[in-house]
Amino acid sequence: MIRFLDLHRQYEGIRGEMDAAMAAVLGDSAFIGGKYAQEFEQAFAAYQRVPHCVGVANGTDALEIAIEALDLPRGSEIVVPAYTFIATSESVTRTGHRVVFCDCDPRTYTLSVPDLARRVTARTSAVIAVHLYGHPCDMDPVLELASAHELKVIEDCAQAHGAEYKGRRVGGLGDVGTFSFYPGKNLGAYGDAGAIVTRDKALARRCRMMANHGRVEKYDHDFEGRNSRLDGLQAAVLSVKLRHLEAWTERRIQIAGLYQRLLDGAGPVLPLAEPWARHVYHLFVVRSPRRDALQAHLKAAGIETAIHYPSALPMLKAYTSLEQDCSSMFSVAAAGEVLSLPMGEHLADGDVEQIASAIRAFR
Ligand SMILES: *Cc1c(COP(=O)(O)O)cnc(C)c1O
Repeated sequence: MIRFLDLHRQYEGIRGEMDAAMAAVLGDSAFIGGKYAQEFEQAFAAYQRVPHCVGVANGTDALEIAIEALDLPRGSEIVVPAYTFIATSESVTRTGHRVVFCDCDPRTYTLSVPDLARRVTARTSAVIAVHLYGHPCDMDPVLELASAHELKVIEDCAQAHGAEYKGRRVGGLGDVGTFSFYPGKNLGAYGDAGAIVTRDKALARRCRMMANHGRVEKYDHDFEGRNSRLDGLQAAVLSVKLRHLEAWTERRIQIAGLYQRLLDGAGPVLPLAEPWARHVYHLFVVRSPRRDALQAHLKAAGIETAIHYPSALPMLKAYTSLEQDCSSMFSVAAAGEVLSLPMGEHLADGDVEQIASAIRAFR
């Protein structure tokens, strides 16, 4: 059986370090915030090459807090790709704004800049660029468009730890970047965790206060915020894993190269990395018009796969009241064809070879 993801095996490989790090937090009773959270924030900011990092409770909160901290006009429109995880659009609605969907690029599945340009109106205040599957969005034209229309740019980097656009790491390209450390992400905690990164010191401070009841010190609340703090145990777990992240990411890139070589001409449409991109392959997503049959064929061969995502957001029940007609979008068609193959440092070359021959044997 070839697993889609194998967090247990990953833990086995770092058990000594991990158990010691968790024991240290317990020994210090440093459960919320504190030195372990601070250490991780500094290390992660350095890793993403951005000056400020604020740890929060999860990636969805990171998006909501980032949007709130930007102080956009109430009820304004925020453009979101139609193809992403629902947290991206939820954060818009939950902060009192209106979701406007734009299509994704059929080559990289990140937002289509020409379609984004069509969606911008006088009421648009921001755009969320999602670096989906680990491939960065084409940020220069997004930033150009944003600057021409005075839009804020939020980068949803939940799937793109360490990804680079023209040599620059994601998160620090727009006004603010958000990360998720959900266990299955490229950098994952042992529970929920997230972070906000930015080059703007004042914005970072506002995010930190917002995530901690509107305060800096114990009871000097400047405004009503919320509780969305990074806890010490998760921070310590993340600090341990961060030390391995580059090696794990390089292995993902190697596996992607192997897939590309072995699956060339095999049938399914393979993912593409733009020449300016460091794609970190959170997911290796292929496309086939016979996706369901291919998935069943691989399952019978003992190969786990997954679908990200079975429906474009506008087609979900959650968006039945949406006025925008998105039915002709590529995102909607893609949902019926995409298949995520196993990806991660748990795979041996032999596993990838086995997966590739199973795909080649599919008729
Ligand atoms: C995982 C994910 C999120 C949400 O992160 P959580 O930590 O699960 O709240 C947001 N956006 C994208 C694109 C994601 O993949």
